Amino acid sequence: MEVTGKCYCGALEYKVSGEPLFRGQCHCRECQYMTGGHPLSVMGMPSSNFEYTKGKAASFTRSDIPNPVTRDFCSNCGTHTLTNLPAMAAVLLKVGTMDDPSLYGKPDMAIFTCDAQEFHIIPEGIPAFEKMPPTG
Ligand SMILES: [Zn+2]
Ligand SMILES: [Zn+2]
Repeated sequence: MEVTGKCYCGALEYKVSGEPLFRGQCHCRECQYMTGGHPLSVMGMPSSNFEYTKGKAASFTRSDIPNPVTRDFCSNCGTHTLTNLPAMAAVLLKVGTMDDPSLYGKPDMAIFTCDAQEFHIIPEGIPAFEKMPPTG
């Protein structure tokens, strides 16, 4: 699969190829800032196949929480494009920035439901984890 996307103003464009590693919806408190309140929908893709084809992303990493992630965004319009997850050699695309968000289909799992709000909806029949899914 080849996925292309861009930020809201179009200053940033990206493309990535490969099979999605996972499709998740994250309910964590940090993601709620990115979405405006709802869970964040992300599609994990292999970071080795990812490139910005236009523009240069700004990035931000919090220094006041354990194991912070680095999030890329457009310095012109503020749209968050992705989260870098070097431990998994993945980039987590923000589904709303994909040219065809329908490629996301449905989430495989919901994570960080410990922070879920009453107005968050978890689709029937998908695994939901209080934090990350157990490894191994
Ligand atoms: Zn932009
Ligand atoms: Zn999150």
